[in-house]
Amino acid sequence: MKLAVVKEIEVGERRVALIPDAVSRLTKQGIEVWVEAGAGERSWFADSLYESAGAKIVADAAMIWGEADVVLKVGPLQEREDGCHEVDLMHAGQTLISFLDPLGNPSLIQRLSDRQVTAFALELIPRTSRAQSMDALSSQASLAGYKSVLIAAAVLPKFFPMLTTAAGTIPPAKVFVIGAGVAGLQAIATARRLGAVVEAFDIRPAVKEEVQSLGARFVEVQLEEDTVASGGYAREVSEVAKQRTQAAIAEHVSQADVVITTAQVPGKRAPLLVTEEMVARMKPGSVVVDLAAEQGGNCACTAPGKDVVHHGVTIVGPINLPASMPVHASQMYAKNLLSLVQLMVKDGALNLNFADDIIDGACVTHAGQIHNQRVRDALEAEARGRSEVRG
Ligand code: NAD
Repeated sequence: MKLAVVKEIEVGERRVALIPDAVSRLTKQGIEVWVEAGAGERSWFADSLYESAGAKIVADAAMIWGEADVVLKVGPLQEREDGCHEVDLMHAGQTLISFLDPLGNPSLIQRLSDRQVTAFALELIPRTSRAQSMDALSSQASLAGYKSVLIAAAVLPKFFPMLTTAAGTIPPAKVFVIGAGVAGLQAIATARRLGAVVEAFDIRPAVKEEVQSLGARFVEVQLEEDTVASGGYAREVSEVAKQRTQAAIAEHVSQADVVITTAQVPGKRAPLLVTEEMVARMKPGSVVVDLAAEQGGNCACTAPGKDVVHHGVTIVGPINLPASMPVHASQMYAKNLLSLVQLMVKDGALNLNFADDIIDGACVTHAGQIHNQRVRDALEAEARGRSEVRG
């Protein structure tokens, strides 16, 4: 079985799907690993390190895409500089494992299905204890949560920790984290380590204890509806609940030096939680880091990929933060892929057991069919949207 690591072509993407250590574990199991020349260079893993780990370095992209049995990637397939789409380099019978944004970009999944590729989207790995080592959403969200606080600390014109010095006493910065999932909890822990006083809010009341165990105060909002969907994710809430949430958090936003927003609902636009009026009430010099920028943003003032200043408040809308820490991001991602590949391989050959909830849950296309109901629904919604625009 030939397993290939291709070079990422997305602008700003610095991660690589496997690091040399993961390659050597696979080659020891009798798997042939091909790595596209330069695939690891932006994450500081040179071709020579992959070669020492037992990989074959392949300079010809068309050859590596064309001859691999399994292709490993970080980001969704896209059009290359020469105008050829990566999906058109794949053929029937190949397997692809990557982040694929299956609910946000279902037409890519349709194209993979049309080409009879068996594709696994890491976004759909079930959030179960057994799948924890394969959970790339979590590993990468944790990097984003950490980095968001470092960005805020660098932009804030103040210290984070309380300091008692001969030049006077400095009070600690106040940080408010909205959304206490994987990224939010890491942001809380990082802000606490830097000495800030931290408050946090999430519509899932179950996270209260986790927030408190990290030394932060949990902001409670009473909502008269179920806020938790299957898999432990948040549900999209009603307009009434949105307004009640905004009213309840407004005071905490205005008191904060730093607001980190991480709230997301899978497959939906990120909920708008921090309004322009709330930003206007913040102290000039304060900072908002909106980790939901790519999904539409939790803050009304967010511009994805940009820093903007409104009423003296800097709003940072970072894109692909894990790529800004490519060494550890790639190391963690590679460990996630290694665990998943090991689940799929028996005696050095691919052996997909669709009775396994992880294989079944993460598979988006197989045998020329869309394998996942949520992706089928997303495709239908996309087609409905197109016909409404035409109508
Ligand atoms: P996510 O990225 O989908 O969302 C981030 C956070 O935003 C979530 O905590 C969500 O509740 C919150 N949120 C959504 N709408 C909101 C709103 N209107 N106001 C405030 N907050 C809002 O979430 P995630 O970090 O991927 O985690 C999702 C769930 O999966 C969590 O329950 C997490 O504990 C669980 N999880 C389980 C495992 C496992 O068991 N292996 C692994 C990772 C995550």
